[in-house]
Amino acid sequence: MVQQTKSSSMQETAPEKNTLFGRQSKLWLYTNFDCNLTCRYCVAESSPTTPRRALGLDNVQRLVDEAVELGFQKVFFTGGEPFILNDIYEMLAYASSRMKTTVLTNAMLLRSKRLEKLCAVANENLSVQVSLDGGSAEPHDAYRGEGSWIKTVEGIRRLQAAGFHVSISSTETPANSDYLDELHAFRRSLGIADDDHFVRPLARRGFSQEGMDVGMDTLVPEVTVTVDGIYWHPLVSPSDADMMVSTQIASLAEAVHCIERHLTAVAAEAGSKRTEFT
Ligand code: SF4
Repeated sequence: MVQQTKSSSMQETAPEKNTLFGRQSKLWLYTNFDCNLTCRYCVAESSPTTPRRALGLDNVQRLVDEAVELGFQKVFFTGGEPFILNDIYEMLAYASSRMKTTVLTNAMLLRSKRLEKLCAVANENLSVQVSLDGGSAEPHDAYRGEGSWIKTVEGIRRLQAAGFHVSISSTETPANSDYLDELHAFRRSLGIADDDHFVRPLARRGFSQEGMDVGMDTLVPEVTVTVDGIYWHPLVSPSDADMMVSTQIASLAEAVHCIERHLTAVAAEAGSKRTEFT
């Protein structure tokens, strides 16, 4: 299904700009694939030894420009750990000068020079989302590695002290599902509101051998770009291409058009209203 979609998208003329979106849309950018952690459930198959495969500053600037033109409302930077990169600050400065920008991180590296550089590009359009799976070390470290919880919590506190708006994302796992109340209480004790906490189920992708099966038939599209291509959704693993929309990252408009046509075709087949982008 994806291969058909991909090849047909290559042959069609890209749509006119400014015509695709009349609604809120998110763009996800995978800045890199290497990470200081090796989480057992990592969809991106990231680790300290994973090849970097960086998207690069030039691509990020061009994609942000095109996203603004197309009517995207928000951009999310993810990886891998974005703060491994030396040029992540320029990427965030550029993106947040043009649109609402959130960077996802485990926050463990955000101290000293890295934090100073992030503070230097702070503005009201830029927020930080930190991955936290427990209100104590055990339910968090079970999947993310021993000693990671305390370093992440220290990172959250440093970000808050520096004035950043911090949200939390959590993955529900067998190790923390009985401790979600503790997680919520701890998150509230950090001064982070319920609306700024996103809990998602485990997905059977990448390193994870357990969790929900996810794919184009179950996920609402959220346009995602990596150095390898454009994908249906950020829950993509580099080792499987079933959610790839295009191998080309030169034209975001063309990839969006491809996704729109796919949604229309699925709705026509089912005789239902078309799903929209989120
Ligand atoms: S889940 Fe996030 S923090 Fe963990 S290895 Fe993957 S990219 Fe790194």
